[in-house]
Amino acid sequence: MSLTDDELDRYARHIVLPQVGGVGQQRLKAARIAVVGAGGIGAAAIPALAGAGIGQLTIIDGDTVDLSNLQRQPLYRTADIGLPKAELAAAFVADRNPRIAVTTTAERITPANAAALLAGHDLILDGTDNFATRLLVSDTATRLAIPLLSAAAQQFQGQIALFRGQPCYRCFVGDAFDADDCDTCAELGVLGALTGTVGAFAALVAIRFIVGIGPDAVGTLHLFDGASLAWRQLRLVADPSCRTCGSHDATDR
Ligand SMILES: [Zn+2]
Repeated sequence: MSLTDDELDRYARHIVLPQVGGVGQQRLKAARIAVVGAGGIGAAAIPALAGAGIGQLTIIDGDTVDLSNLQRQPLYRTADIGLPKAELAAAFVADRNPRIAVTTTAERITPANAAALLAGHDLILDGTDNFATRLLVSDTATRLAIPLLSAAAQQFQGQIALFRGQPCYRCFVGDAFDADDCDTCAELGVLGALTGTVGAFAALVAIRFIVGIGPDAVGTLHLFDGASLAWRQLRLVADPSCRTCGSHDATDR
């Protein structure tokens, strides 16, 4: 996949990096990323992915803009209140980088539509705000064998992890949260700048994964404490009895 003269100019600051170069930029152009959730995480990650030249972006979000979103979601304006986030995010991407093919789904991801919405992507970035949806996205990603980048923020804590095969996100959080559909941000609060930090970090992890920069981040949980400003890394371990990625037969459940 070659780059046009316009793209060589647009991505000049990438291409001059030895770790990216023309080959890395072509990998970004060829990449298909699904972003689930255009809220606090997505609103920071989507502009970074669009700017980086990800060739195909799918934006999945069934929400409309609420006044309380504007504290942390810089994709949206006061005049956008009541309008669908997926459509607004797509319009932003089209203005930012008209070379990107954007597909939007302005409906909530559900067990009925998840596989159809997520199939055919090279990476899924989950920035949703509740465990039930995260587990649904993770289980679907595992079954479709698509790497999953999970990013979450609440209060002052951010966490980002890249999953591919084992361990999966369900190994990490367990089965207790499948019925938990609460909006954790609404209940517990979140610092607006934290979601931006976590969303931009997730975009960085996605870009280095697509290009192939640095050590493989799969299976490492990155934790950020916005109060102390400390980053920590933990190695995640597979749960051998995980019902999604575990080795036991599904009929044993
Ligand atoms: Zn698992």
